[in-house]
Amino acid sequence: MSSGKELAERVGVEIQKGDRYSFHRTRRVRRSKGESSYEEAAVLTTKHKNTITKVILLDRRVEKVRHNTRPVKNEIAHFSHRHALHRYKMLEEDQVQCDICETDIVGKAWGCQDCEFFIHKSCKDVPREIKHKSHRGETLTLRSSTRYESGEFRCNACLGLGEGFHYHCCPCKFDLHVACAGTPYIVYYEKHKKPLTLCYDFPIETSRTVYCKVCDSKISKNGWAYYNKDSHFIAHIYCAFDNEEKDSILVIQDRLQSLQMK
Ligand SMILES: [Zn+2]
Ligand SMILES: [Zn+2]
Ligand SMILES: [Zn+2]
Ligand SMILES: [Zn+2]
Ligand SMILES: [Zn+2]
Repeated sequence: MSSGKELAERVGVEIQKGDRYSFHRTRRVRRSKGESSYEEAAVLTTKHKNTITKVILLDRRVEKVRHNTRPVKNEIAHFSHRHALHRYKMLEEDQVQCDICETDIVGKAWGCQDCEFFIHKSCKDVPREIKHKSHRGETLTLRSSTRYESGEFRCNACLGLGEGFHYHCCPCKFDLHVACAGTPYIVYYEKHKKPLTLCYDFPIETSRTVYCKVCDSKISKNGWAYYNKDSHFIAHIYCAFDNEEKDSILVIQDRLQSLQMK
């Protein structure tokens, strides 16, 4: 898919004379089996009078069309973005991910349509600096991108790669996804009755491979895990705490606010 016109033709979106349209390639975060990876996406946005149509083509298989009217005039500035952000209301089928916490946005959001930059209404206020127990109480600073040469960081919690917003400790090269920094200390996983505690150091002493009780794939001993010591139930942080769930963003937000530097 090399151009916006080609994509529009393929999915049956009409571009009329005088319409504005933009086309770009991007990468979306996909989380499964406790790992995050990226998939390529082609995004076409057309504006015909007051209607915005957006088509997202993921790995050439999922095609999404959405119609949206222009946002109400109401704007804010955000330190990480050079344009003003407008108010939006996202539906589940919009499949929009928050650029800050990289989880889906359903409901209120701030965004810049031209740049495809969208954040949860509540993510606007994630702390710029936090202290996190996993990192000896040093200050972690919110960054919108990494200055590593590769353009990517490896999250010390989930061990996945990231390239967007994260918390960073410069002298230690310590990095956390925003959502990982906000994972709650205790979770109740539905298929396990007892509470699971967040462990920053691997809780089981063994030379054998340890498998996640939720997804059955291997858990690295270098990252974080949820664990119950009575039942030896262990799980990836993303398996025991589903951050794609509707209310989970509020849990993440609460946790981040509590870590904020006073
Ligand atoms: Zn968010
Ligand atoms: Zn912008
Ligand atoms: Zn992470
Ligand atoms: Zn440090
Ligand atoms: Zn798992």
